Amino acid sequence: MSAELLNGNQLAKRVRSQIRRKLKKLTFTPGLAVVQVGNDPASTLYIKHKQRDCEKVHFHSEVHHLPADIHQDTLIEHVEALNARTDIHGILVQMPLPQDIDKEAVIDKITPHKDADGLNPVNLGNLVINRERVTPCTPTGIIRLIELTGEPIEGKHAICIGRSPLVGKSVGLMLLNRNATVTYCHSRTVDLAAEVQKADILVAAVGRPEFVIADMVKPDAIVIDVGINHVNGRAVGDVKFEEVKEVAGFITPVPGGVGPMTRAMLLENTLKLAIGG
Ligand code: NAP
Repeated sequence: MSAELLNGNQLAKRVRSQIRRKLKKLTFTPGLAVVQVGNDPASTLYIKHKQRDCEKVHFHSEVHHLPADIHQDTLIEHVEALNARTDIHGILVQMPLPQDIDKEAVIDKITPHKDADGLNPVNLGNLVINRERVTPCTPTGIIRLIELTGEPIEGKHAICIGRSPLVGKSVGLMLLNRNATVTYCHSRTVDLAAEVQKADILVAAVGRPEFVIADMVKPDAIVIDVGINHVNGRAVGDVKFEEVKEVAGFITPVPGGVGPMTRAMLLENTLKLAIGG
């Protein structure tokens, strides 16, 4: 039997309509600033998508394109100038940054009240103590996709492959906050396949094409594929979609699953920050 597809494009469209409705009650326009350092082509494409999304919901957006050889202090000054602007409510520093820049030092300087990606230590700390407000975009989008199944999260065994703050670690915390039993797998996990087979909810955020194969997946599991890997000019997920869809109960496609929801959650976070201060 084939798994039910969790369509991120459709869900993201619904989120944008809700945002447009909420916007009608506002007397000002929410503003998002994206900071790009260097010319990474994938980043340029992601930013273009984010700008297009902002247009769709009538947000103000601006891209601050800074040179790859920028000094870290100058980048931080730029972020601080954005912190001070009253017309900018959300700030996102596009990753990856050049290797000689300490990305944590930069994220530290985004004021938590404008941290559109929810990655500032204050917002991550709030996530740890189950006081979720602005949570990282990809994990939040993943939770929405899981909710779309109509299955309760509480009591489920959730397994996250990957433990980055951007995805794996944060989505694990969000699942824990919703009373799932959570296991993290990573590069040092012993017998990963045996662990993964226990998952009612499986989040694959590994960054390795088609890492999860059908034999690792529990029948009827909810499988969320976060991976975006470029193989022979096309985007491939971390899950071997064609065979895993025959075992899973629900599955996200790549593209069209987590990606559009990540962007929709960026809009939602920006609106939240604009309204809440
Ligand atoms: P990351 O920081 O590189 O983290 C990858 C994680 O996978 C690490 O925790 C690593 O373990 C683990 N891992 C790597 N190889 C492994 C192996 N052989 N066995 C078990 N675990 C392994 O990547 P990320 O930023 O979390 O992103 C993960 C993927 O999601 C990437 O493909 C990225 O492009 C994609 N992504 C998609 C979106 C979206 O919107 N769709 C957003 C963000 C990221 P260690 O910690 O032990 O090194």
